[in-house]
Amino acid sequence: MRDIFTLVFVLLIVILGICSIMARRSSKSVAKPVSYLLVTFIVPITGNMILTLSQDKLLSTIGSYTYFIGMTLMAFSLFDFTLAYCGISWKNHKKKCYAIYALLVLDIVQYLFNPFFGHAFNMTDITVDGELYYRLVPHWGQAYHRIVVYLAFLTSLIIFVVKTIRVPRVYKEKYYIILITMILAGIWQSYSIFFGGPIDRSMIGFAICALLFFYFSILFRPLKLLDRMLANIASQMPEALFFFDASERCIWFNDNGSKLLGVNSDTLDDIPRRLSSMFKDLGEGQDNWFSRQSTGFGDNTRYFSLERHVVTDAKERKIGSFLNIQDHTADVHRHQREMYEATHDKLTGLLNRDALFQSVKEKVSQKSDMPYWVAYFDIKDFKLVNDIFGNTMGDFVLQKIAKWLRVHSSSEWIFGRLTGDAFGICFASDNPNVKMVEQQISKFSITNGTVDHNILIHVGLYKITDPNINVPIMFDRAKVALNTVKGEFSHHVAIYDDKMRDQVLWDQKISAQLEKAIKERQLQPYLQPIVDNSGKIIGSEILVRWIHPQDGFLPPIKFVPVFERNGMIADVDKYMWRCACEALASWGGDNSKLFISINISPKDFYFMDVYSEIMALVKEYRIDPSRLRVEITESVMMTDIENRIGILNKFRESGFIVEMDDFGSGYSSLNQLKDMPLDGLKIDMKFLSSAINDKRSETILRYVLRMSQELGLFSLTEGVETKEQYDMLNEMGCNLFQGYYFAKPMPLDEFEKLIAKG
Ligand code: C2E
Ligand code: CA
Ligand code: CA
Repeated sequence: MRDIFTLVFVLLIVILGICSIMARRSSKSVAKPVSYLLVTFIVPITGNMILTLSQDKLLSTIGSYTYFIGMTLMAFSLFDFTLAYCGISWKNHKKKCYAIYALLVLDIVQYLFNPFFGHAFNMTDITVDGELYYRLVPHWGQAYHRIVVYLAFLTSLIIFVVKTIRVPRVYKEKYYIILITMILAGIWQSYSIFFGGPIDRSMIGFAICALLFFYFSILFRPLKLLDRMLANIASQMPEALFFFDASERCIWFNDNGSKLLGVNSDTLDDIPRRLSSMFKDLGEGQDNWFSRQSTGFGDNTRYFSLERHVVTDAKERKIGSFLNIQDHTADVHRHQREMYEATHDKLTGLLNRDALFQSVKEKVSQKSDMPYWVAYFDIKDFKLVNDIFGNTMGDFVLQKIAKWLRVHSSSEWIFGRLTGDAFGICFASDNPNVKMVEQQISKFSITNGTVDHNILIHVGLYKITDPNINVPIMFDRAKVALNTVKGEFSHHVAIYDDKMRDQVLWDQKISAQLEKAIKERQLQPYLQPIVDNSGKIIGSEILVRWIHPQDGFLPPIKFVPVFERNGMIADVDKYMWRCACEALASWGGDNSKLFISINISPKDFYFMDVYSEIMALVKEYRIDPSRLRVEITESVMMTDIENRIGILNKFRESGFIVEMDDFGSGYSSLNQLKDMPLDGLKIDMKFLSSAINDKRSETILRYVLRMSQELGLFSLTEGVETKEQYDMLNEMGCNLFQGYYFAKPMPLDEFEKLIAKG
């Protein structure tokens, strides 16, 4: 009997020792208290073992001391372990902890005094089954020991009870297992003490208890907790998750899985069927797969990614699988929206410039043998639409054009909005029917319900002869073509040709040469006489000519429109105005009454303060302002009207005579005429001669002249080529005349010779 117990005790001591070392090596926060607890369990077991083995009184007494002091140490370390395991800091309960520690220390101290006072116990021998054992006879010191040890034990027990009650369900397991262990050990201990034989078996219970502590605090992984956490995470994941066992039976799905298929957990067996009715491809036969799929049609299309993974055990045997389904519909819609916004114009919903260029590039490079064209078109005087009808109407026009394009375009066309009022189209055609396009666009009118407005569109076409040219250049060429018809009323479509390319080159060439040309006096003033109704020369109009070193004599038509487009006309005009002032200042005697009319381009107003500029010249050359007549065209009054009226007023107040050039050739006409500060109207015969019916022209002329008279304006008719015209105009009451019939524009010296003749 003794031998068996000894063997069991030795075994327990060894196991506890090993576990203590293992606990020590653990990184857990309870490692130290657990390791210490296991060591302190060894002490009473050793004491008990000595007691059991020994038949010698002294040895038995040593065994008893070891046992009791060990029990106290055990109670001490159990309390310490309890605090650590339950996550209680002794610092927060200092007083209670110190009281327990003090009682335990006192217990040890009183044992140390037992050899002297014998107050705790003394040893007596007994014989059981013929074997000699020493048993102790307890005194009051022993009673104190039991109370203190039980108190420490009970305190630990209570802490565990409270903790078990308070913690969330998933953590309870961790506490109640220890709690039960402790209760069982307590019962076992009490039983052994009160009903035990000569050998104290309670130690075996304690040792098992210590090993369970070790297991639960160091080795145990709370799988239930882990399970619950993983399930919670998986449930809330944005993906739909389905878990299958090895035989492909669905064993679990998360909330989004249930939403996706519209099922609840009762329908686990139905999941594979529902999945295959929703998705066309479920990776038949494959273990791990990924696919992107869509379901539904049109606006109800939904986009998914599906991913299946097989789960294997340590030996790579399949134990199940899971399917992860992500709904990308919102992402796809957002991406589509972003793509749309990045490539489309907000106002019209057409492709924007970059997207149009890109689409044209792709189309042309796909089938480069097709006869492709690009068209550039814009609205004539779109600014006027905005100014007169307001921006809302302007926007409405652009939207109307976009709609018109959508309705009238063939599916093969690519079109978009290039800039403000400019649109671009790319289409395939062997030979675009320009006449038909002309007819179509000339009928383009808009209405906002109350106001109707005819919109004039001009189109430039470019045939893509080389698909490798950059698309912006193609549209630039179409725009070059468009610019050639921009000022035209009769035809609206132009096809880019080499002449236009030459024009562009010409524009660039002369623009680069202008500054030098002015400096070297290649630009020369020509004067064309203006006569009164008796045929007497009373003044002239100054007209520019360019005597070009390489290209010879250039009439204004060759360069004035070019410089009007790029704004360089201001330099030409300033120079011509100076020439006019120089001439006027040089004329003395009778000639000092002659006047010179100068031309002011509408563009001049953008580039300088026209009034100050001319005023400064007049002062510099000391000329009477009435000798410098100012010719402006109707288009000057098309923008910034109030400001322009102010400028004309200033001219008149300073003594200049202001004439409206080319009256009747543009817009405005009668409506504006009443507000315009003018002295005279200049009417060009050529605008009238283009009319079909001469009689009509004559009538118009008669009425214009009469109106001018009634408005208190003098009239000047230019382009007079024949005596008949002169006589007729004279009879109609025209005041002044200019035209080839009298003289062509001539160099300054010729003009001076002419007037010298009288
Ligand atoms: P404009 O101001 O209307 O000038 C009158 C044009 O009619 C001149 O053409 C003149 O030579 C032409 N002309 C005069 N009498 C007759 C005639 O009996 N029959 C015909 N068929 N034509 C006649 P030009 O000099 O070629 O000038 C053309 C236009 O160039 C001018 O029209 C004017 O708009 C512009 N221009 C000429 N010089 C200047 C200038 O110094 N500055 C600006 N801004 N424009 C100028
Ligand atoms: Ca003129
Ligand atoms: Ca004119």
